[in-house]
Amino acid sequence: MTLKVLKFGGSSVGNADALRRAAAIVQTELPAGGLVVVSALRGTTDRILEACAAASREDLSTAQAVLAAIKQRHEEVATDLGHLDAVEAAWTPLFERLDQLLTGMAMLGEGTARGRDAALAIGETLSANLAAHCFQASFQDVRDVMKTDARFGKARPLLPALRAAAAPWREALKAGALWVTQGFLGASPEGATTTLGRGGSDTSATLLGEALDAEEVQIWTDVDGVLSADPSLVPEARPIPQMSLSEAEALSAFGAKVLHADSLAPGGRSGFRLVVANTLRPGASRTEILPHPPERPAGAVTSVAYKEGIHLLRFPASAGLEPPLEAAHSLEEAGALRFGLISSPAGTLLAVRPETHASLGVLGTLAASGVLCEAGWAVVALVGEGLRTDPVAALRHLVALGHEPVGGLLTGSSTVSIAFLVPESRLVDLIPRLHAHCVLPG
Ligand code: ADP
Ligand code: ASP
Ligand code: MG
Repeated sequence: MTLKVLKFGGSSVGNADALRRAAAIVQTELPAGGLVVVSALRGTTDRILEACAAASREDLSTAQAVLAAIKQRHEEVATDLGHLDAVEAAWTPLFERLDQLLTGMAMLGEGTARGRDAALAIGETLSANLAAHCFQASFQDVRDVMKTDARFGKARPLLPALRAAAAPWREALKAGALWVTQGFLGASPEGATTTLGRGGSDTSATLLGEALDAEEVQIWTDVDGVLSADPSLVPEARPIPQMSLSEAEALSAFGAKVLHADSLAPGGRSGFRLVVANTLRPGASRTEILPHPPERPAGAVTSVAYKEGIHLLRFPASAGLEPPLEAAHSLEEAGALRFGLISSPAGTLLAVRPETHASLGVLGTLAASGVLCEAGWAVVALVGEGLRTDPVAALRHLVALGHEPVGGLLTGSSTVSIAFLVPESRLVDLIPRLHAHCVLPG
């Protein structure tokens, strides 16, 4: 039997109507069983983090007020769907556990990364239990199979362990089971709950697709597939019907939120079909991500991506290479994303985005030790298979930058992109301009 994995993001399970639409998609796409991965109800992860932050500063009453709001919202959605009685047995202990975790944080006046992951897991576990009822499926806890290391907040999968643990799932799903599980979560070797980083449910779906030998993974979200730019900055951004894995990889690595940065590697290794589609308009255009590149005119740019929140670390030439390399290593180990490390006789520049509390701590230590750290930067990338065949075109496109205060040009291993650093404040002007000048008309 063909095995498919469907993933529904937060907005696709954000309210009762969205869940009804998702149920109809599950019925159409998985008539003979399969696996559904769900995120927490839209906004829940942010709210749980807010509650943890309040508890960590010993403000238990705010934390509990946030918890009460989360509980009320979930109960309203379940009531609207007619499943409140059915989910109550699974939900009550989850709300109690969240209360206990927050109380513990407030007593200590501190939230550890491990404690936060345990709290965050409740969001995805609540929604997966509810979705299982909506889809007439059974709930399975992803922590039984998603084996990761213990880097709380940005855990990395342990692929052989994941594959071994997934064997019984593979068998049951191929025999026709319909299961719902949580995105975003994993379990460390000692069994503690971990998370894969913000937006990590896409990666859960593709990692599970790989471990289960699925033929297809579908990412259901709130836009008509991958677009030529972020629609919140470029309303006229167009859907890209087909793109190569390399294009998708570059786009997500440079910040397009529609696909989590780590979500493309599993498809590259195992070769399943990867599709991005819109829960709000299932019949609308969608994006298919192919192992082999579609035809593109030489020099053509398919899309523009950006990521804000970049910190630049500057090391003088006299410092040599050891300190920047050590900084890059310790930041990455603590969960920062590295966007560039450029060295020249004039010095070394390291561009990173701290994604965890731990990596922010490392940045603070580096700054205190005298390393020049500047916040407020963004990375911008032009992406397209056309740049592979005409790399000089990439430089011609930079004319569209005009007099922008570019902080550095980033060349990397990807030959389908060119990226550069700009002040965050320039993004609102620059992204629409680059889209208009550089992206191939649809
Ligand atoms: P989900 O909750 O389904 O995971 P996300 O919010 O994580 O959804 O990702 C979808 C969002 O990504 C879109 O609503 C859009 O605002 C944003 N986005 C940024 N860049 C792109 C792009 N190039 N194509 C499509 N969406 C993009
Ligand atoms: N719920 C998690 C988040 O908001 C994971 C995800 O949505 O992919 O980051
Ligand atoms: Mg997402």
